[in-house]
Amino acid sequence: MKILRPPELSHRAIALKPSLTLEISAKAKALQAEGRDICSLSAGEPDFNTPDFIVEAAREALLQGITRYGPAAGDPELRAALADKLSQENGIATRPEQVLICNGGKQAIYNLFQVVLNPGDEVLLPSPYWLSYPEMAALAGASTVLIPSSASDGFRLDLDALEARITPKSRLLVINSPGNPTGRVMQRQDIEALAELVARHPNLLVMSDEIYEYLLADGEQHISFASLSETLKDRCFTVNGFAKGWAMTGWRLGYLAGNATVIKAASALQSQSTSNVCSFAQKGALAAIQGSRDCVKDMARSYNLRRDLLIDGLQAISGITLIPPKGAFYAFPQLPERVTDSMEFCRRALEDEGLAVVPGVAFGDDRCIRLSCAVSRETITKGLERLQRTLSQF
Ligand code: PLP
Repeated sequence: MKILRPPELSHRAIALKPSLTLEISAKAKALQAEGRDICSLSAGEPDFNTPDFIVEAAREALLQGITRYGPAAGDPELRAALADKLSQENGIATRPEQVLICNGGKQAIYNLFQVVLNPGDEVLLPSPYWLSYPEMAALAGASTVLIPSSASDGFRLDLDALEARITPKSRLLVINSPGNPTGRVMQRQDIEALAELVARHPNLLVMSDEIYEYLLADGEQHISFASLSETLKDRCFTVNGFAKGWAMTGWRLGYLAGNATVIKAASALQSQSTSNVCSFAQKGALAAIQGSRDCVKDMARSYNLRRDLLIDGLQAISGITLIPPKGAFYAFPQLPERVTDSMEFCRRALEDEGLAVVPGVAFGDDRCIRLSCAVSRETITKGLERLQRTLSQF
């Protein structure tokens, strides 16, 4: 009898790590389905529904028959509206042909990496980092060079450490503010100092992932890296999307903005891979971008209250190091020194206490865990109690 062997996977597929955050959420959901009382602070998405006027616009588009293929680079009206938004709100003078509509911020990053990185190139990545960046760099054949930072200084980017790691192979620097998983918001003086550093290295490109731009604590301001200097503008790419600010994670709508030649190449890649983003979903996004920001502000206010609750609770636990995060909806506390393995800690938290949180090792810091505040106040309070109980077993 002939034995059928599974097909050999490509080197690329073998090297790929599945997303640990999605894995933890799935495990928590499976335990919940078995009837376990699970308290999950592991989600990476808003707990709001998409605002009605956006849903209504997509519904209307469906009813009007906007159900066919569209231009691969995106609905021209949406590209123009986003060019306008970037120019007015973010201070980045942008033309419509400099904007590519993608399936989420994720595809925007993937496309950019595919069209600017070559095998052997290095991506400079401040750590802790969002876990998809190194995997996407690897898919483009590039390696990742980390710039470490620590919880005790609020995960501030050390510019000397960054500059020391720049080599002739350095091609792209990634920044992400407000940041996932740290919730850190880069301050104007930090961004200006970074822009000066980048100006000294003319071969270096910058990708600024601004997907959490609207989720800011009171008194914080979002500054787009590409708005800082005309001379750097051609080397800076902005990634953004509708998922976090407008509670549209499932819609899969993001965008990439920057130099028109690169956008054209990314659009060609998209045309040969996924084509246009869902046509009627883009009409929902158009309504979002053209509409009032009140809904976004209301949701941000709600996360702020819950972030404060989470921060206060974490800071009250002895041995935890946490400089309050100022944006996104995460806290990334450092656990007491006796906890040496974040994966093992999270496994025990889930199995013994029914608490789902994400191990810091997934984001490059094994001393930390990530907790989300995009859950109810009761869940936060319960989660903090369970965290304390897990810690007492270590
Ligand atoms: N960038 C960061 C920092 C994120 O946290 C996420 C999602 O978690 C994304 C990009 C991707 O977002 P999207 O759902 O638009 O693909």
